[in-house]
Amino acid sequence: MLNIDLHCHSTVSDGLLTPTELVERAATRGVSALALTDHDDVSGLSEARLAAVEKNITFINGVEISVSWRRKTLHIVGLNINPEYPQLLQGLKDIRSGRVLRARSIAAQLDKFNIHGSLEGASSYSGGKGLIGRTHFARFLVERGYAKDVKSVFKKYLVKGKPGYVSHQWASLSEAIEWICGSGGRAVIAHPARYKLGKDILDELLFEFRTLGGSAIEVITASHTPEQSLMFAHHAQRLGLLASRGSDFHGPGESYFDLGQMPELPVGCKPVWHDWNKVT
Ligand code: AMP
Ligand code: MN
Ligand code: MN
Ligand code: MN
Repeated sequence: MLNIDLHCHSTVSDGLLTPTELVERAATRGVSALALTDHDDVSGLSEARLAAVEKNITFINGVEISVSWRRKTLHIVGLNINPEYPQLLQGLKDIRSGRVLRARSIAAQLDKFNIHGSLEGASSYSGGKGLIGRTHFARFLVERGYAKDVKSVFKKYLVKGKPGYVSHQWASLSEAIEWICGSGGRAVIAHPARYKLGKDILDELLFEFRTLGGSAIEVITASHTPEQSLMFAHHAQRLGLLASRGSDFHGPGESYFDLGQMPELPVGCKPVWHDWNKVT
């Protein structure tokens, strides 16, 4: 049985392993095809690809793009993208600049709650590269003892209504899909259950996504219960969308699913990789 994992993160975004370490771990765990999908950044792909050649596993160029849709943040995964496509590169660069501004606002918010030095702290976790995100703030807050782990620190400080939350305008859904499809890739709605959309709004999202050229729904992900996976498998079949499978692995001890360690797609799903020669 092929073990395909189409969603994970490296130190290029908010993962804990370098692209090489990630691919090596995937190989050890029996993953046969891996997509690296860093948030808003494709700069880890060439390193990961080299490591994948060494380990004889199939590598797929990926990205996870932050999107604002109806005042919600959505994540759209791009698979088989061309990481040199100018519109994609420029779009991601703009998102990363926005992240720097948001990080300053998060730090200013936390300052008001007497938590100081968080921008420097978060930056030390992000390695001072272009991409800074809430996970880096979370790791800093855990280090300072504000909560026992990343998950609980999010609940207390970094989500809507909490001291370190700042609303932010990401790319639009149509932009993200255009960049992905324009570069030759396939767009996937990541972890759809996470957005907690009511039935009608969910349908509007799925229809809009499909009309704009989106291809697939992530059915298997660490964010879904088995019931949610079945529900989204059903939505995919109903709308003629393909199904994807990814661990959303961020690092040992921080993730629910390890690389490649998740259920198979439910019966009846058409895999997003069904026509990828190198995978099937
Ligand atoms: P950002 O894109 O900077 O807003 O950060 C989003 C990232 O934060 C996600 O990709 C996850 O890695 C992490 N994250 C979001 N919500 C949670 C949560 N409740 N618990 C743990 N990590 C979370
Ligand atoms: Mn993340
Ligand atoms: Mn995500
Ligand atoms: Mn992710």
